[in-house]
Amino acid sequence: MTTPHEILERHFGFREFLEGQERVVEAIVAGEDVCVIMPTGGGKSLCYQLPAMLLEGITIVVSPLIALMKDQVDALAAKKIPATFINSSLGQSEMDDRIARMIRGEYRLVYIAPERFKSERFVRALAPLSIALFAVDEAHCISQWGHDFRPDYLRLKWALKDLGQPQVAALTATATPEVRADIIEQLGLGKFGRKEPRVFVSGFARHNLTLGVSHVKSKADKLARIQEYVRQLQTGIVYCATRKNVEKVAAALGKGVVAYHGAMTPDQRERAQEKFMSGKCSVAVATNAFGMGIDRPDLRFVVHYDIPGSIEAYYQEAGRAGRDGEPSRCEVLYNYADTRTQEFFIEGANPTREVIAGLYNALRRVCGKDGIELPIAEIAELVPNTKNDMAVGSALYQLERAGFITREYRQGSRTYTTRLVEPVKAFGDLEIDYERLEKKRERDLGKLAKMIKYAEHHDCRHHYILEYFGDTETGEGCTVCDNCLSKATGPARFPTDEETVMIQKALSCVARVDGRYGRGRIVQTLVGSRSKDVLDVGLDRLSTYGLLKDLGADYVWGLLNTLIRTGCVTVSGGQYPTLSLTELGGEVMRKQKRIPLALPEISKTTPKPGRAQKGSPTKADVAGDYDVALFEALKQWRRENAERSGGVPAYLIYPDRTLQELARVKPKTEAELLEVKGIGPAKARMFGAETLAVIARAL
Ligand code: ADP
Repeated sequence: MTTPHEILERHFGFREFLEGQERVVEAIVAGEDVCVIMPTGGGKSLCYQLPAMLLEGITIVVSPLIALMKDQVDALAAKKIPATFINSSLGQSEMDDRIARMIRGEYRLVYIAPERFKSERFVRALAPLSIALFAVDEAHCISQWGHDFRPDYLRLKWALKDLGQPQVAALTATATPEVRADIIEQLGLGKFGRKEPRVFVSGFARHNLTLGVSHVKSKADKLARIQEYVRQLQTGIVYCATRKNVEKVAAALGKGVVAYHGAMTPDQRERAQEKFMSGKCSVAVATNAFGMGIDRPDLRFVVHYDIPGSIEAYYQEAGRAGRDGEPSRCEVLYNYADTRTQEFFIEGANPTREVIAGLYNALRRVCGKDGIELPIAEIAELVPNTKNDMAVGSALYQLERAGFITREYRQGSRTYTTRLVEPVKAFGDLEIDYERLEKKRERDLGKLAKMIKYAEHHDCRHHYILEYFGDTETGEGCTVCDNCLSKATGPARFPTDEETVMIQKALSCVARVDGRYGRGRIVQTLVGSRSKDVLDVGLDRLSTYGLLKDLGADYVWGLLNTLIRTGCVTVSGGQYPTLSLTELGGEVMRKQKRIPLALPEISKTTPKPGRAQKGSPTKADVAGDYDVALFEALKQWRRENAERSGGVPAYLIYPDRTLQELARVKPKTEAELLEVKGIGPAKARMFGAETLAVIARAL
């Protein structure tokens, strides 16, 4: 029988499972209902895509990310996994055709938009299917306590009933206990004769992300900081709370930047997203409308121009950095006054009884028989004691939901027509659950308070976040946040003789590899790592190999940071920074000069076994030893190939890291190609011949 591991290698081209994946796959294959909580980028998709290859029957994936369905299906096709999607972008006949093919068993996986399940006809048409697994992605959308509630998700419960209560996997990045309980309850996990659902929380630790918060006084400081990020790290996202800020920041950054917010037309947004995803543009300035599913793996930074409204929202957005495992930075530019914007949003999303009453009374006054055709801003002017148009918009929604008004859009009109439903009721008769609204408002404010606490936190930020999510499996925090980094060094002082020798060893290793490698490889060399990254390029033959073995990777990492801060070592700019010795560094190395240094404290950074392999900076730093011309040639080929294949995102063909690896190893045969990290049999079959041809031409 085929094992999950074989499928992992053969179809997905991965050698190992990411943290948490294997246990989930095993539970699903064993027929259990699961609730999987993993952060964005944690590798949730594989948790249902892999079982889909092993289970008897079809796997249905419900996902609200309509814009991404095609990409997901294309990515599966590239792995030779038959899949399709069904959403509102299809005409009826295309939809019928796909359903017929599903029933004929032509697909392993089918992505379906949640609103499809509104149609009884649609659900009936699926009835003959033998459903192996019903995977609900972004499952937090089912919870009214989540940040992204979608009423369509509530119907899934009924759809599941009509489909014969198949096995369910619910997946989300939102881990608050209320949301989790809601997911389990609403989807009936563990009911219908199945065992208690298994809940897996894992993967929240992201050791390659350096988390930080800068306390900034002015907008000019914020902009200067962002400009610095763009100059140094080049590729990333700047998140702003409002459309106005997006426009301001994008304008200040100038060319090479895309702006993205909800008030742009769908067409404009699609173009902006395409420019960013295809790599034509390296920086996006966006509101949180950007990024549901943004899967560009090579983002080196995510900066928040304004504080976000909750830790979930923050970590989801920040987590888009460094999906390729390389070191990346996430920073919140914090000014307490900005929290007011978030409070305004919370007021807007959760109108008070007073606003709802004020609105209803105003509507009773002004709506005649034909209703009123006014934009929300003008309706808001009729409501006493509120300046928050958003709250009035939400109050309109509440009244509409409770069946007391209708809102209708007429072709060609500027805005909605609002009418009172006859017979018009007294305000006291409106059945609106104010208590629920009030509770939600309190919860939202509580979440904001936790985010503010994060910004003002003085201890490990990773630890704070892991605790928030209840991720007890991925261990404690780590050393890559601003607070830990600043604590990891003591005050500046002249080193002892023993420390001087240690510093000389570190500097001479930098001198040996001068400008060819990044921090990670140098640390690995100094601690005598046996990793492939080191052995393949012969760093183990250097005389400095293993010289600081006893200190451990974390310590040596901190030591290099100190040497960089004091100007003994410089870091080249750009996406793949390498280290070189400065003149001062040379003098210190030769003991011609003694300088005070703030060395890391041994106790804070004792090596933690296993950490170095888990994506800590040591592993992740980037090689500078590949053939740059060949890398460029491969990139050019990848771009052309992506365009030929109808605009598939380039990294789906090969991510940059694989191209660099190719440009380093320069395989000549298919067997050699298969040895390259990131190339599995499926990739080799699809692109192998062309890849080898590009390499042969360039050599
Ligand atoms: P999520 O849905 O949790 O946000 P994805 O499923 O999109 O995350 O996966 C994030 C990234 O991790 C993708 O680029 C995916 O190809 C990669 N990935 C998933 N599983 C593995 C694995 N076992 N080994 C290496 N990379 C993986």
